[in-house]
Amino acid sequence: MSSIRQARFLTSAALPADLPAEEGPELAFAGRSNVGKSSAINALTGRRRLAFASKTPGRTQMINFFMLGAVGRLVDLPGYGYAAVPQALRSTWDALVGGYLSERKALAGVVLLMDIRHPLTDLDRNFLEWLRPVPAPRLVLLTKSDKLSRTARLKALADTRAALDKAALTSEVRLFSSQNGEGVNEVRDLLEAWLRNAGGSAGK
Ligand code: GDP
Repeated sequence: MSSIRQARFLTSAALPADLPAEEGPELAFAGRSNVGKSSAINALTGRRRLAFASKTPGRTQMINFFMLGAVGRLVDLPGYGYAAVPQALRSTWDALVGGYLSERKALAGVVLLMDIRHPLTDLDRNFLEWLRPVPAPRLVLLTKSDKLSRTARLKALADTRAALDKAALTSEVRLFSSQNGEGVNEVRDLLEAWLRNAGGSAGK
């Protein structure tokens, strides 16, 4: 059985010191608040309420870890881009998430979710620029693809790929809808392959 479908909540980290010891390959999910990240994690894992654990009061600014069978972990990073977050909170985010992404040897892939109706916002570009030196592969999901017609979806896919290529920000890009299932199985297969490829070396 797919390890992604065996996800179980492990722990939350509010501070770098709270991060669990590295044990196996980790897949990190990032994106602006409200982009559909929790819904995507629930769709991929087949657990309807799993990622809503990350939305309970007090957990939204934490990194939430889920075990994926015995194989690896899914890591739900706190959503970025609340315009109103105070500077103090932003520095906490930078220290926690920035520290995690730049130092975690177990990082086997980063999944960046963007709303298909407005992909590559300045915040998304900043995040991708910031990720540039991180060696893990990246996957961009264009979420809520059910909101656009087929023609508009394919145009958004092509435009996003072209913009990322132009900026030399190598990434896989896929259409994704938690609502009608577009992309869900393909993305799960891709992530399972990343876990397998990282298997022997990550976290050691
Ligand atoms: P998060 O804040 O990034 O975790 O986003 P959520 O998963 O909570 O979703 C934010 C809002 O977008 C909710 O109202 C969801 O119902 C809606 N949403 C999430 N995924 C989809 C999708 O694939 N299609 C549509 N139409 N709406 C979605």
